[in-house]
Amino acid sequence: MCGITATVGADDVVSALLTGLENLEYRGYDSAGVALANGAGVEVVKREGRGDDLVDRLSTASLSGRVGLGHTRWSTHGPPTDANAHPHTDCTGELAVVHNGIVENHAELRERLRGAGHRFTSDTDTEVVPHLVEEYLAAGGDVETAFRRAVADLSGSYAVALVHADEDAVYATREGSPLVFGVDDGAGTPDAAYYLASDVPAFLEFTDDVVYLEDGDVIRVAPAGYEITGTDGTPVDRPVESVDWSPDDVEKGTYDHYMRKEIDEQPTAVAQAVRGRVDGGAVSFDSLTAGIFNDVARVQFVACGTSYHAALYGAQLLRERGVPARVFLASEYAVNAPPADEQTLLVGVTQSGETADTLAALRSGQSDGIRTLAVTNVVGSTAARECDDAVFIRAGPEIGVAATKTFSSQVATLSLLAERLCRDVRDSRGDDASELLAALDTIPSKIGSVLADSSAAELADRYGDSDAYFFIGRATAHSVALEGALKLKEISYEHAEGFPAGELKHGPLALVTPTTPVSAVATGRHTEKLVGSIEEVSARGAPVIAVAPRSETAVAEAADDVLWVPDSHPELVGLLANVQLQLLSYHTATLLDRPVDKPRNLAKSVTVE
Ligand code: GLU
Repeated sequence: MCGITATVGADDVVSALLTGLENLEYRGYDSAGVALANGAGVEVVKREGRGDDLVDRLSTASLSGRVGLGHTRWSTHGPPTDANAHPHTDCTGELAVVHNGIVENHAELRERLRGAGHRFTSDTDTEVVPHLVEEYLAAGGDVETAFRRAVADLSGSYAVALVHADEDAVYATREGSPLVFGVDDGAGTPDAAYYLASDVPAFLEFTDDVVYLEDGDVIRVAPAGYEITGTDGTPVDRPVESVDWSPDDVEKGTYDHYMRKEIDEQPTAVAQAVRGRVDGGAVSFDSLTAGIFNDVARVQFVACGTSYHAALYGAQLLRERGVPARVFLASEYAVNAPPADEQTLLVGVTQSGETADTLAALRSGQSDGIRTLAVTNVVGSTAARECDDAVFIRAGPEIGVAATKTFSSQVATLSLLAERLCRDVRDSRGDDASELLAALDTIPSKIGSVLADSSAAELADRYGDSDAYFFIGRATAHSVALEGALKLKEISYEHAEGFPAGELKHGPLALVTPTTPVSAVATGRHTEKLVGSIEEVSARGAPVIAVAPRSETAVAEAADDVLWVPDSHPELVGLLANVQLQLLSYHTATLLDRPVDKPRNLAKSVTVE
């Protein structure tokens, strides 16, 4: 996780770095720092705590330089302290490094470097990098050669950037961690400014011209221009592409929290996911030509967290269309892959396209010759580039650590994909898709009505003082129950669990008491069974909140409270119910005064395994 950024040639390098760090804080926020190189030396300011604390410290430091690095950290090695914050320097203090990822062989490198007389000042794995560069510089050669030699010694995952006192330049490379390059005002012009970052939002307010660097690329960026070379030093050509995200997408505007803004953006996000992909009752994705899945007989999904819940939802829709589909937690798949063959399609669902566990699972499938498809929000991401095919969910940037609009966009995209796949996949039922597709078209406005008229705030107030929270549902509503519980635990820190409704009586019912509200998600299917589960819960004295479409009167009558959603196709009601549960979590967390956008111990875009 963590975010790295670098700026070259901007008029105000410090403020460009701070803008980058602010926009990357969703990736990590336990400490932050910057380094500027100005010909005379390298100046570093860093500290434990959020970016705001760094801004305070910077207000009393007078830094200058035409090139600089920034880092917002999510610790993997060593606690969040001033000393462990990045940038890290060598013994001479002449060079500084920022790093995202894990240097797996850091212990052995540290021992070697200590033996050679290097003094370490932090507990991080990262600190071996500046000392290695120092070592190779002392052995003779220029900064670039020393940087390349140092990087060649690393194993693990990294995006690394370096500045040196002697040069107005930044060197950077990546291996398994994301790194993008932004070009402002045309390369090579006197006014050109350049940005390196873990993700595009870092520099979106300066430029939307982006180069997606690939593993092994080494980039040298100076005010006069940039050069990208491969590990062997030969130039490589990477196109400059325009991203269609706007700076407003990464601004909080009048909202108190990004999460709330992103909840409200769901009508647009879902409309974007569907736009131009439905034609005359059939689904078409530009990237997937007709018949492309004719050889597929079954689908396996790999994903983590919220994306895992969206994948559960998508797999359910596929199974209902006769396509065998199973979902695996990516971290488990990577170490214990289920049997698969050349007729298996492995679908990785990852918002960022950089989730290390999901990438590892996809790579393990690829190494067994299995065909892969990425479902992601980020064009140019590692998953999109490495998989055989990619489908984009088009949600726009999501900054809040707790995923909201990307779940809705993933589910909308996966329901289109289910219709698209069942046309090709053997023995599946390519039934008439028009009913679901027509219903999908109305989902944005129905989400709008949920947002306009929800009693979630009132219920959060009523149940805000409970001992634990449970969520139940069947089929697609089960994935929504799991997602509802995850959202609540992530941002409120309250104990929350989701269960398949029918499973309650096999164990979890022992936890149900009058102080554990149970949210029961209804879709319009399996009504009687859900009412039965609600009665089991009510009989133990627990209050029940039904999340139900208007026509589900039996469910509503059995419950104590109701969060209504508009009637819709039963396969899509879960999307609407999920919005109510997002609001319930959001209001519970704000009542408890939690840092909604940056929950403790969590970060977005989990780029470490
Ligand atoms: N491993 C580095 C550290 O602990 C970087 C962490 C990260 O990428 O999140 O400081």
